[in-house]
Amino acid sequence: MRKLVLIVIDGLTPTALERGIESGTCPTISQLAAAGQLGRAISAFPSLTPVCLTSIATGALPGIHHIPHLVWFDREQGRVVEYGSSFAAARRSGALRWWRDTIYAMNAEHLSPEAVTVFEALEDEGLRAAGINVTCYRGRQRHSPLVPGVARPVLGPSRFFFYGLFESCDTGTSSTAVFKRASGSVDGYAETAGRWLVTRDDFDFLFYYLSDNDYISHAFGPEGTDEGLRRADRSIATIVEAAGGIDSFLERYDVLLCSDHGQMPVREGVRLERCFDDLSLAGRHALRRAQIALTASNRAAMVYRLAGCPLESPELALRLEGDPSVEVVCYRDGADAVALRKGAELRFAPAGKGWRTSGEERVLDQPDARERLWSALANPNAGEILISAAPEVEFTDIAGRHHAVGGSHGSLERGDSEVPMLAVGIERLPASIAEVAPTVLRHFGIEPPSYSTVPPLAV
Ligand SMILES: [Zn+2]
Repeated sequence: MRKLVLIVIDGLTPTALERGIESGTCPTISQLAAAGQLGRAISAFPSLTPVCLTSIATGALPGIHHIPHLVWFDREQGRVVEYGSSFAAARRSGALRWWRDTIYAMNAEHLSPEAVTVFEALEDEGLRAAGINVTCYRGRQRHSPLVPGVARPVLGPSRFFFYGLFESCDTGTSSTAVFKRASGSVDGYAETAGRWLVTRDDFDFLFYYLSDNDYISHAFGPEGTDEGLRRADRSIATIVEAAGGIDSFLERYDVLLCSDHGQMPVREGVRLERCFDDLSLAGRHALRRAQIALTASNRAAMVYRLAGCPLESPELALRLEGDPSVEVVCYRDGADAVALRKGAELRFAPAGKGWRTSGEERVLDQPDARERLWSALANPNAGEILISAAPEVEFTDIAGRHHAVGGSHGSLERGDSEVPMLAVGIERLPASIAEVAPTVLRHFGIEPPSYSTVPPLAV
């Protein structure tokens, strides 16, 4: 059984990668592409990192894994959960809360017990799994934090390196990586951990997550710079060199490389709250008086109907549909889902292996739109109404922040939703990011969880 390295470069678009290969910006990835196959795959909706990395790690869409967005409303606790739409939004939601939600609760509470992470599935079969900086890290082994004054342990894979806060082994790196992003030190931390693991060949499966590209692409736009890709390539070169160069690396490991979502240019930040000026919004009014909760960030938003909301879901959806910043609004209506787009409507529901639909098909011409929306609506942590932004628009977060003029993602649109998919030593390229974990498990001869829809390869 051959070992496998999964590399995820946050926010890398297929076009940026193809351009980089052509222009020589990413020599190491080019070598991997030459040794294997390069294609494209589809992300989850909303196409935002906490949702997508969880889909990559569990092989499930949000209806199964239950992570709904970067920011969402916890109905049981009556509060907004903020994973970090922006530093300002994190501060606004309460720095301690943000810390607890992002570091602990996302894995220990929000991630559904029904979902199985690739770390859990592999280590249950006696294989050694390693995770570097992956936000969906749930595993079987206890790790105590390295930060003084923080005591609560987490359950992660046996080889676990998480922003210097948790480390299964001391590699001699500093524990402040998370605070020095602009200088590139988040991926610098990942490199140190990756070099350490590859030098010792101390795993069967390594999940190597590089986040700096997304940060750079938000600032300059997906077409604005190749610096993110250049840096990611350097981080990959670090682990390749740790194995003794590309030939020895590929002798030892098969490789999957993808991103979690794409990015599109944004020109304008819009306060979606403007659609509901006559209603009491959670956060703006005391919770007992709030009629709806609106959670918006990047290019996706959700509306939660709270007790006392005078409008039904179709009425709320119609208001949103009329706003120029909105491309698609979707909600459940009995056994159907209803999607609205600029005056047109499509009703849909699963039927056998396909879909039963009525209305105008052009409403959902985005990649895998029905499947992705259906699963997002089935998530108990999601709002009743899901919103996908119009081209070039971003919704402002709770602190009023946005990335205009730069890059963003989150919507159903192809640019936000399409990712590069590169494989070396793997027969079939995953067509969706939710096919990555089942592909990894099958590679090791392990049957994926029953919710996986990926058929086994014909023998
Ligand atoms: Zn992002």
